Amino acid sequence: MGIIFDIKRFAVHDGPGIRTTVFLKGCPLRCRWCHNPESWLPVPGCAVRKVVLDEREFLEEETIGREMTAEEVMAEVEKERIVMEESGGGVTFSGGEPLMQAAFLESLLQTALAAGIHTAVDTSGFAAPNQLEAIAPHTRLFLFDLKLMDDARHQEYTGVSNRLILQNFLWLAETGKPLRVRIPLINGINTDPGNIRQTIDFLLPNREVVQQVDLLPFHRIGKGKYERLGLPLSLPGVEASPGSAELTAIRQQFQAAGFVVKVGG
Ligand code: SF4
Repeated sequence: MGIIFDIKRFAVHDGPGIRTTVFLKGCPLRCRWCHNPESWLPVPGCAVRKVVLDEREFLEEETIGREMTAEEVMAEVEKERIVMEESGGGVTFSGGEPLMQAAFLESLLQTALAAGIHTAVDTSGFAAPNQLEAIAPHTRLFLFDLKLMDDARHQEYTGVSNRLILQNFLWLAETGKPLRVRIPLINGINTDPGNIRQTIDFLLPNREVVQQVDLLPFHRIGKGKYERLGLPLSLPGVEASPGSAELTAIRQQFQAAGFVVKVGG
């Protein structure tokens, strides 16, 4: 049994083909730019939203997350089997950080593979190495986030050190497991030339296993979620969204280093 906070069908940015993305609740990070603060707590939660009816305002409680068995989750995934098969897609487990529910994630991955469904895991990389080792054989593709190379700045902006993340990345790369690297780009936090250069230098020795680099420009969305959850707003301002000239320059740097790059997703 695990806690799921969303299941998104027909996802086209979470791995190859058309996929169903399952969002597991719980995340040990607190990225300042997080669009999904409802994912943070590893238990079902509650949010309050304002509803206007006939010019009167009402407060309505909504529950976030529900307990599901692996069989119940996979029954939802199976509904799109034809689309997945025809498009070369599959299922992606995301979060939050899906490895916060490592045993449940492992059983989901095993069930999906046994049913002949391609599996991907979208991770922040912040997980106990033995848990990563346990799920790796059942994962066909990792979508691995890299946010900031400087450890002090990583701690400042995400709440955790990047040492374990980088160590886990190197371990996965050594196994030869296919990886897609996802980099959120937030002006004033990680788009500076120094961080981009350090990221490329870190990835270069592992270019063989890095199938693609996804550059994900920050957009200031999700403000309402912080209000509904009663959380202080940590999102950077609109000036944190990189412009097209900056994005082009960063994309070209990765391409010049030999990486396949996609912007957005
Ligand atoms: S790792 Fe993802 S879900 Fe967790 S806080 Fe960061 S952006 Fe949000």
